[in-house]
Amino acid sequence: MTAETTAPRAPLPLVFDAPRRAAKPPRHLADLTREQARAAVVELGHPAFRADQLARHYYAGVTDPAAMTDLPAATRTELVEALLPGLLTVVRHQSADGGRTRKTLWRLHDGALVESVLMRYPDRATVCISSQAGCGMACPFCATGQGGLTRNLSAAEIIGQAVAAAAAMANGEIPGGPGRLSNVVFMGMGEPLANYNRVRTTLGALLAPAPYGLGLAQRSVTVSTVGLVPAIRRLTEEGLNLTLAVSLHAPDDELRNTLVPVNTRWNVTEVLEAADAYARKTGRRYSIEYALIRDVNDQPFRADLLGSRLAKRLAHVNLIPLNPTPGSQWDASPLPAQREFVARLRAHGVSTTVRDTRGQDIDGACGQLAASEDVGVPGVALPQPQLEPTVELGAESDD
Ligand code: SAH
Repeated sequence: MTAETTAPRAPLPLVFDAPRRAAKPPRHLADLTREQARAAVVELGHPAFRADQLARHYYAGVTDPAAMTDLPAATRTELVEALLPGLLTVVRHQSADGGRTRKTLWRLHDGALVESVLMRYPDRATVCISSQAGCGMACPFCATGQGGLTRNLSAAEIIGQAVAAAAAMANGEIPGGPGRLSNVVFMGMGEPLANYNRVRTTLGALLAPAPYGLGLAQRSVTVSTVGLVPAIRRLTEEGLNLTLAVSLHAPDDELRNTLVPVNTRWNVTEVLEAADAYARKTGRRYSIEYALIRDVNDQPFRADLLGSRLAKRLAHVNLIPLNPTPGSQWDASPLPAQREFVARLRAHGVSTTVRDTRGQDIDGACGQLAASEDVGVPGVALPQPQLEPTVELGAESDD
């Protein structure tokens, strides 16, 4: 680090292709299809059905060979070492909201760090997972985007975050008694559609029933994107009824070019058209994510512009009062501006909610994930407007 790095930040470059790392993560069952997993077990000299047994344990959160009593004792360790290597090591958990929000910092085999956040609500439990270490999309208001892209995660590294969350719920690690993981959102670190193939494999594992998956409902899985149009089209063709979230943050290209730099590649019109095509194909409403930033994108005229652009579309707006990130000069919109923004969108007939942000005090909220091992270096302590009980603004929802 040189002194120049403390000068005002120049815009970061967009990075679509992740750097290749010399050492790939070790082979893991979750990276393999069922057929590949069975073939791998046969190659080790065991009957193919052992792969199904291993998968059932893995997706149930069991990795201790001693607990795999349906496998011959003599083979357990060999099979676990060969197909269920530990890819994610807990560095630490941090809890907020009375323990119902828990952020986990994970270390990967090569030392890369990623975070996931588990949030328990009365009616559901959602884990927010990372698809890349860092992010190449360079959004200036997002802590992850400001750190740049380290590498893509493998499918098993992404899946492992969801499996760990499912196990934490099942084991009663989160207050409220044993429960079930119901939702997964790709809103942790990284741009999921920039790591398409691994994310596609992950989706398969999230949706597949036991033994080869977590058996989640398609609509309970949300893929959030900055708007990589060709990848949105590709996702549309998959024929999955996932929830699509588009991080718009501005209704006009001029502002969006700076807030979401990838807009210089695919502009607002193109992104909305790709999302419309997704909605037509799936019959599912998509979400527009919009971080409300004081005096940047929260003006009444922008609310009207957003409202008129979305009025006839199958879209729902999720407003997120900006979460503070270190070094940022930006602040969340004050409550009256939030209310005005909501009212104007609704006046256009656009369904709108303000997100109930979880985990802000542990830097676990949207855009705050930066995966550093330093503890006790809080993000900038900007005062946050407290959202009133959700009734009036209709606060929701991470999914
Ligand atoms: N790269 C994907 C997914 C990760 S970000 C995407 O951009 O959609 C998840 C959401 O948090 C996105 O909508 C993102 O724009 C938003 N976000 C990022 N930084 C934020 C911040 N500081 N405050 C509020 N929301 C933020």
